[in-house]
Amino acid sequence: MAALGDSGGLGGQGGHIGPPLQEYAGPLRHVWYCYSPRMPAFDRDAMLAQLLAPGEVWDILVVGGGATGLGTAVDAAARGYRTALVEGHDFAKGTSSRSTKLVHGGVRYLQHGNVLLVLEALRERGRLLRNAPHLVRDLAFVVPSYDWWEGPFYGAGLKLYDLLAGRMGLEPSHLLSREETLDRIPTLEPQGLRGGIVYQDAQFDDARLAVTLARTLLDLGGVAVNYAKAVGLLKESGLVRGAVVRDEETGAESAVRARAIVNATGVFADDLRRLDDPESPPVLAPSQGIHLVLDRRFQPGASAILVPHTDDRRVLFAVPWQDRVVVGTTDTPVAERSLEPRPLPEEIEFLLTHAARYLTQDPKPADVLSCFAGLRPLVRGRTAEKTAALSRDHTLLVSPSGLITITGGKWTTYRRMGEDATDKAALVAGLDERPCPTADLHLHGWTEEARSGSAWAEYGADAPALARLAAERPDWDEPLHFNLPYRTCEVVWAARHEMARTVEDVLARRTRALLLDARASAEIAPAVAALLAAELGKDEPWQRRQVEAYRELARGYWLE
Ligand SMILES: Cc1cc2nc3c(=O)[nH]c(=O)nc-3n(C[C@H](O)[C@H](O)[C@H](O)COP(=O)(O)OP(=O)(O)OC[C@H]3O[C@@H](n4cnc5c(N)ncnc54)[C@H](O)[C@@H]3O)c2cc1C
Repeated sequence: MAALGDSGGLGGQGGHIGPPLQEYAGPLRHVWYCYSPRMPAFDRDAMLAQLLAPGEVWDILVVGGGATGLGTAVDAAARGYRTALVEGHDFAKGTSSRSTKLVHGGVRYLQHGNVLLVLEALRERGRLLRNAPHLVRDLAFVVPSYDWWEGPFYGAGLKLYDLLAGRMGLEPSHLLSREETLDRIPTLEPQGLRGGIVYQDAQFDDARLAVTLARTLLDLGGVAVNYAKAVGLLKESGLVRGAVVRDEETGAESAVRARAIVNATGVFADDLRRLDDPESPPVLAPSQGIHLVLDRRFQPGASAILVPHTDDRRVLFAVPWQDRVVVGTTDTPVAERSLEPRPLPEEIEFLLTHAARYLTQDPKPADVLSCFAGLRPLVRGRTAEKTAALSRDHTLLVSPSGLITITGGKWTTYRRMGEDATDKAALVAGLDERPCPTADLHLHGWTEEARSGSAWAEYGADAPALARLAAERPDWDEPLHFNLPYRTCEVVWAARHEMARTVEDVLARRTRALLLDARASAEIAPAVAALLAAELGKDEPWQRRQVEAYRELARGYWLE
């Protein structure tokens, strides 16, 4: 193990900067919703100082800042446990910024007969719509039918989907005539079309929900630090009692002590398990899924398309999102795990071919504004061979050392995963039993009048503060690029209030510029680097390195 810094190396600022934790031990609905000068800063230096405060022993330390880790940390902090989270790169850098952006029960899992999984996910869909209305909205999906049997067959399945949603249900599904189908999706291939079925599900912005969860954690008195990687585990009498955390910005390593450690590192979960026990067998079989992002002219209607059976017998989505269309996805078993997985040529070909089959305009590689890949942290089954057949349900494992690993699942069920992981962590650490309040917990930015579609709607209750920031300097209200929906002040906001540390953090996850138009995002990298440098106190060589690194990354997102 490398030399450890003192646990309080940056010391002097330990303790809470939020309100006393006891306030959160009972049922709670929401905490600070909107920016005020009294709001604790989501500032990395302050967070790191709290994480490493001398003598600090956290109740629960969560490793991994994707959907699962953030969901767990929010759950634990909401119960009043002293909670910290460390993320080795940026929040949602892994799979959690690379989803299809659906909050859904999963129509496909019904086809596989996994009714309980669908039931749970539909319940969570309802909760997310209630608790984060600024980030989640319902969306109509059309299943086109080209064969006589498809209408009644899928119609019956979707009725069951409605039924399972129960009182959390959205508008009921119904059959559409050929004309009604084309009204909703004017660019749907008309040849052979008989009609369709429309049903409701929901959609969101995955990386922004992740940042919102990190902000919620802060509101609850917890600590979250990005660019802080767990590189070792601390043990006492064979039991895990903390982690060695490396500050990826300085290289300094420190011991962080905790009563329970939750491994929520997604497809990297086996790595941490091996740090605990080099003999532990792998539990994950990652599977890659890619998406193509196209201009809205390919699908100008307000509804999404669900193709119920592709050539490899899966479903395919073409979803309007942020004034683009997201087409996906694939399911390709992969051996290598990476934070920047690359789409394979055959996956791109597969999506282009299927999109061309169902849309009147055939998209070509040059039409692809961005192409992104993500890795599903699927849990191995004993007999399953194809990853499409592996469990989408989540798995909770407790190692003999007490290390708790939570993996699998979906973004939609992150809260439920967090609840289960916290229950287990409390048990392992011998903490007081406390009820889980997150089913009704409003997330940071929640507002009565969440207005999807209006300017900065996704910032929720923080939107007025952002508007005030935009008014501070004339150039801060300027668009960053004519083909992107972002303004200069959002870069400043991301640095000041959302712990953005790099050009990539801003362009890939605080805004979604990288996914909406990878080339345009590369063009504005220098402007973003300059703004960030002013906020973070960085020099010109830093800016140059940032721009170079970002452009290199963005080149992997366009096709020609
Ligand atoms: C193609 C695709 C489409 C999908 N679409 C949907 C969808 O539409 N709806 C839905 O509900 N779900 C969807 N999912 C599933 C969902 O995205 C994932 O289940 C979820 O994002 C997994 O989150 P996670 O936190 O477990 O993993 P991750 O998001 O990968 O987070 C793990 C984090 O741990 C960090 N980490 C790793 N090692 C360390 C360490 N040693 N120290 C500190 N940090 C570390 C990583 O940097 C990473 O940020 C999709 C998945 C894929 C791949």
